[in-house]
Amino acid sequence: VNHVTIMDVPFTNLTQKELLDQHIYNRLHRLEKTFIVTANPEIVMMAKENNRFHSLINRADYIIPDGTGIVMASKVIRNPIKERVPGFDLMTHLIGYAEDQDLSCFFLGAKQEVLDKMIDRIKDLHPYLKIAGVHHGYFDLEDREIAESVKKTKPDLVFVALGSPAQEKWIMKYYEEFNKGLFMGVGGSFDVIAG
Ligand code: UDP
Repeated sequence: VNHVTIMDVPFTNLTQKELLDQHIYNRLHRLEKTFIVTANPEIVMMAKENNRFHSLINRADYIIPDGTGIVMASKVIRNPIKERVPGFDLMTHLIGYAEDQDLSCFFLGAKQEVLDKMIDRIKDLHPYLKIAGVHHGYFDLEDREIAESVKKTKPDLVFVALGSPAQEKWIMKYYEEFNKGLFMGVGGSFDVIAG
């Protein structure tokens, strides 16, 4: 994939449409595992200061430029990224696609009451969406039980809303144990949907 590297972070240089139509949808149909990092300037700074986090996000299949700061930085280095791809938009597109294509989604993260509200909204917006499962995000990251319970549901997509770096750490800790699935850290997106 075409990249633009900003402070040692290789950002995927595709429009959202290109990313979805030419990459993600095909991977979902091939049951090819996918790890997406949505990276804003805070994440770039975190990676700069933390080698382990840096190598962790480098294992992503796609690092999406989430935030105008990244797009601006790419212009400054005269290697402009095509467009900003907000993680929130990507997530909502993927949920819509999952509903259309009969793919199941697991929602992991946020406070229980936020999660409940969000799931109500999702069910209103996407009545046919297969929800593989849900779990709030206030648990010990080392707790294998949570990962086991996610695994059992065999989700096609897993949205992880624990904030960074916890969400990326959680994904990479258990990633190898899954046979399929698109995994994406979505920060505060559940709170946004919950309203
Ligand atoms: N969160 C969580 N468990 C935690 C800490 C945070 O589930 O131990 C959730 C929090 O409720 C929110 C989400 O992680 O829904 C994102 O948090 P934050 O806004 O701090 O992250 P950012 O969007 O800045 O990455």
